[in-house]
Amino acid sequence: MPSAPWGTEGILRLMAVHAHPDDEASKGAATTARYAAEGVEVLVVTCTGGERGDVLNPAFEVPPGHEFESLAGKRAVRREEMAAAAAALGVAQHWLGFTDSGLPEGDPLPPLDPDAFALVPLEQAAAPLVEAVRRFRPHVITTYDPSGGYPHPDHVYTHTVSMEAWDAAGDPARYVVDGGAPAWTPLKLYYNHGFSLPRLRAVHEAMVGQGLESPFGDWIESRVAREIPERPVTTLVPVAPYFAARDAALIAHASQIDPDGFFFAVPRDVEADVWPWDEYELAATRVPAPTPEDDLFDGIRGTEVAR
Ligand SMILES: [Zn+2]
Repeated sequence: MPSAPWGTEGILRLMAVHAHPDDEASKGAATTARYAAEGVEVLVVTCTGGERGDVLNPAFEVPPGHEFESLAGKRAVRREEMAAAAAALGVAQHWLGFTDSGLPEGDPLPPLDPDAFALVPLEQAAAPLVEAVRRFRPHVITTYDPSGGYPHPDHVYTHTVSMEAWDAAGDPARYVVDGGAPAWTPLKLYYNHGFSLPRLRAVHEAMVGQGLESPFGDWIESRVAREIPERPVTTLVPVAPYFAARDAALIAHASQIDPDGFFFAVPRDVEADVWPWDEYELAATRVPAPTPEDDLFDGIRGTEVAR
C-alpha cells in the first residue's frame, strides 16, 4: 500500500473500481493505459481477490511454487497475475481485500458462501473504498452500471459500494475513522460500457464485409430480441494506440483469459478501424460537463478544480 496521501497534488487522478482481478483488463483497460501514458495518475481498485474463479484458459499452467486448489492458492496466483497486468497498463493497483462471491449457477441458485463480498454489510464493504478515495483523491471514478454489466453478485455490489463512496467520501461526518484521510469529493463518475449495440454492429459488419467469421452475430440477435433498453453512451475515449497494452494486461491474467478466446476474436486492425474507442456513460458529475465528450476529464482539465 503506498504511503498516504497516494495521489499527487496538481496532477489529474483517475480511479477505476473493479470487482475481480482481470476486470480492469477487460473493461476500460486501454483508457487507463492511455491516461497513465499521458501523465494522469491511475489507480485500479480491486474489491475481491478473485479466489473463486475457475481456470478459464485451457493452456493455463499453475506457476511453479503455487497451487490453484485452495482459496489461498488461487488468491496468490491471481495477485501475481494482477501485478503483471498493472505493469502492462502502467497503473497502480490496490486491493480492498474482500473475498470473491463466486458466480452462483443452477436452478435454484445455490446460496453464497458466508465470506462472500456481496454479503458484507454496505457500511463495512464501502469503508475501505471510501478511505481509498480519500487517500488517492481521484477527480474521476469509473465503475459498473446498476446491473453490474454482467450478472455476477460481485459486479453488482461493486456498483453499490462505488455509489456509496461517491456519495460519502466528501462528507467528513461519514465513515469517520481514527487516523483516516480527510474527506475528498470526486468530481465525475462513469459507468464502463464494453459492448454497446452500435459497437457490436460496427465490428460485426466490418468482419462479415471482409469475409471473416464474426463472434457477435448471435449476441446482436439476442440483444435485439430481448428489447432491453440500451444504456446511454455519453463518452467515447479514443484509445486504439493502447490496445496492445490492454491485450498484454489480458494475457497477464493467464488463469482467466484464453489467448485464442472471446477477447481476441476480433482482429486488432479491424477494431482500430471501426471502433477505436472505449465507451462510458457519465453517471454523475459535480462540474459542468456537456455530453457527448471524448475525455473523462472534460470540465476538469485546466480548471481550478483540478487541484
Ligand atoms: Zn469480474
